[in-house]
Amino acid sequence: MELLFDDGTASGVKLESGSETHASKAVVIAAGGIGGNLDLVRREWPTSELGSAPEKLLMGSHYYADGALHEEVRRIGGNVTHLSKMWNYADAVRHPKPQREHHGLKLIPPRSGVMLDPDGRRYGPVPVMPMFDAYAALERVCEDERKYSWLVCNFKIAKRELDVSGSQHNPHLRERRIVPFLLGVLLGKPGLVRHFLDGSPDFVSASTLSELAAKMNEVTGESAIDAATLEREIGRYDETIARGKGLFNDDQLRRIGQLRNWRGDRLRTARFQRIVDPNAMPLVAIRLQVMARKSLGGIQTDLGCRVLRERGDEAIPGLYAVGEAAGFGGGGVHGKRSLEGTFLGGCVFTGRLAAATITGAELPLRIPPRID
Ligand SMILES: Cc1cc2nc3c(=O)[nH]c(=O)nc-3n(C[C@H](O)[C@H](O)[C@H](O)COP(=O)(O)OP(=O)(O)OC[C@H]3O[C@@H](n4cnc5c(N)ncnc54)[C@H](O)[C@@H]3O)c2cc1C
Repeated sequence: MELLFDDGTASGVKLESGSETHASKAVVIAAGGIGGNLDLVRREWPTSELGSAPEKLLMGSHYYADGALHEEVRRIGGNVTHLSKMWNYADAVRHPKPQREHHGLKLIPPRSGVMLDPDGRRYGPVPVMPMFDAYAALERVCEDERKYSWLVCNFKIAKRELDVSGSQHNPHLRERRIVPFLLGVLLGKPGLVRHFLDGSPDFVSASTLSELAAKMNEVTGESAIDAATLEREIGRYDETIARGKGLFNDDQLRRIGQLRNWRGDRLRTARFQRIVDPNAMPLVAIRLQVMARKSLGGIQTDLGCRVLRERGDEAIPGLYAVGEAAGFGGGGVHGKRSLEGTFLGGCVFTGRLAAATITGAELPLRIPPRID
């Protein structure tokens, strides 16, 4: 898509598919981030913080988030900034039913599982624990050139705690079906665990740790996991649990205890569950990979969503950018440790702001009545 100008003012777009053009008094770029273009993600990868870009990188955005309109804004002299600020996850797996190349899924990995580095050693001295600090987990995982980690748990833990991010994987929540949603929370999701064990090449199960080690090596095609190391690491964790709460001296167990203090998390967190437990079999190992998702930088705008020129001191007449394309509000407004789940708000807010700027309406804009 090409941006068209008339006497320096954005005046419409020309479609790629030929000479078809659309004229407009205002052009709003709402094309999303760059997470769907893994080459661009690698090019902009924050190497000073996370080392080299992962050789194997999953994609958790959509293909159309390809950065083409970012490039177009650059071409016409607009400022595209902070693209190295991106929200990538360290806890994704290959999709059980991939619809595109490198298709990944962001898991909500079991918090009672033990996270291990590619050699099967537990992260320390402070253990990496899923779902606490996504950026810190990414930093730890990226310290190793292989840029993946393992999560080892058992079926009982996985059934209670495993989940997937995204509305298409949470239909009960999306369609407000309260009873099945609550049943899933109360009884766990054995079907989901089986779905991944059957379909995702990053999930393996076994009845002993040595068998699990062999299967983990099959997943990576390496022989980095030594059964004795795995038994030692998991054994140490299980022995700490066996000593009883009074003697827990493990940061992960302390955090599990804290989670279980709150009713909402208590239901979804196993009670100090050992990994090797005959009543919780089989053992489950999940290879967690890095996945590109959201762009925190993007097209720089002023507070009225007008696209700024490269010098940043002047707006390009008639051209606006909103949502993830504009880094959720002007190119980098979130900061790199952006709070999980707060992205859509910035998209809606900047959409309204742009509409107000274009029409001259007062903010806040009136919310249209809901149409069911
Ligand atoms: C799986 C997943 C789960 C998420 N979960 C959450 C969450 O729980 N909470 C949260 O706050 N955020 C979440 N996000 C992030 C959030 O959904 C996005 O940041 C947000 O949807 C971005 O909105 P947008 O309108 O800016 O862009 P998008 O929703 O990406 O829409 C951009 C649109 O532009 C179109 N487009 C792109 N390029 C062109 C072109 N050249 N020509 C024509 N059309 C084009 C695309 O097809 C697309 O329809 C999630 C994202 C994903 C992928």
